Amino acid sequence: MPRTVILGAAGFLGSHLCDRFIARGHEVIGVDNLVTGRPENLAHLEDEPRFTFLRHNVCERIEIDGPVDYVLNFASPASPIDYLKIPIPTLKVGALGTLNACGLALAKGARLLQASTSEVYGDPLEHPQKETYLGNVDPIGPRGCYDEGKRFGEALVMSYHRAHGLDTRICRIFNTSGPRMRLDDGRVVPTFVRQALSGEPLTVFGDGTQTRSFCYVDDLIDGIEALLMHPSQVEPVNLGNPDEHTILELAEIIQRLVGTQLPIEHRPLPEGDPKVRRPDITRAREVLGWAPKVPLEEGLERTIAWARTQLGTA
Ligand code: NAD
Ligand code: UDP
Repeated sequence: MPRTVILGAAGFLGSHLCDRFIARGHEVIGVDNLVTGRPENLAHLEDEPRFTFLRHNVCERIEIDGPVDYVLNFASPASPIDYLKIPIPTLKVGALGTLNACGLALAKGARLLQASTSEVYGDPLEHPQKETYLGNVDPIGPRGCYDEGKRFGEALVMSYHRAHGLDTRICRIFNTSGPRMRLDDGRVVPTFVRQALSGEPLTVFGDGTQTRSFCYVDDLIDGIEALLMHPSQVEPVNLGNPDEHTILELAEIIQRLVGTQLPIEHRPLPEGDPKVRRPDITRAREVLGWAPKVPLEEGLERTIAWARTQLGTA
């Protein structure tokens, strides 16, 4: 039975990964300090004999007894609202957390998969973004704590690969949403869904012409699994859905799906907010045979149905 360690297990993506590898027959050890994650995301695994939870800050050395086959490093705040509140823990987890993840994988002879991000491309001057694009990141801007932590993380993982022969994978994840995102985590999909279901104005930052491309969580988890199991793909791979929309369009789609017509309240555009974002997923298609399958509206419908259960409006 493979043994898989998932760092950031109580978060949105980490908890779905725990489910995926339990379903694949792995023994899963989930590690999280709950800084942005929620124990509720893992409550359904409480009686699962192949699942163990360890409450631990991965910036401290990670001790796991016995053999480990895979380490997935998903520990990091991921929502701008979250990481802007805790910039130094965000930089620490990007650097020290990734260092400890590499150290654990090396000590155990395990394969390491690093969760990186489209934010390594910053406010991109190339569109859509290919893995070969080196990015346009402002190191001293407010998002620098996340973006540079993630860039450092990639550099560290590649250095462990080159210096120690560590078997590594890097996925650059583009905006992904779905059930188990905190409805107050500030990211645009849970925010608009919560506002629409609660009858509150939808808060659009800036004029709403900035774009994002939204992937549904199940598709992303398929892509992560395909990359983890690939025998040799060390170079980073973009994972996301290239279906690009303005934020105003997203607000309209969510209102239509919820069946509301609420006012749009414009708020100042946060400093450093990228103007466009869309993954070029040619590499994922060619190397992994992966492409997202769930259309935007279907993913949003599933997210809305879940959010209703959380808000008690089901
Ligand atoms: P999330 O905030 O729901 O999950 C992150 C988890 O990491 C949380 O449970 C948090 O408590 C945990 N964590 C943070 N610092 C920690 C520490 N020092 N020690 C132990 N645990 C710690 O966010 P998410 O959307 O699930 O993101 C997970 C990973 O995927 C992150 O690394 C993020 O950068 C990456 N990512 C996500 C997206 C996305 O669209 N969801 C996009 C790009 C990259
Ligand atoms: N956004 C918005 N209203 C909100 C939250 C976010 O208009 O209440 C915008 C934000 O300015 C950005 C986009 O939606 O342009 C996506 O934001 P999110 O925080 O989800 O992720 P990002 O891609 O910026 O990391």
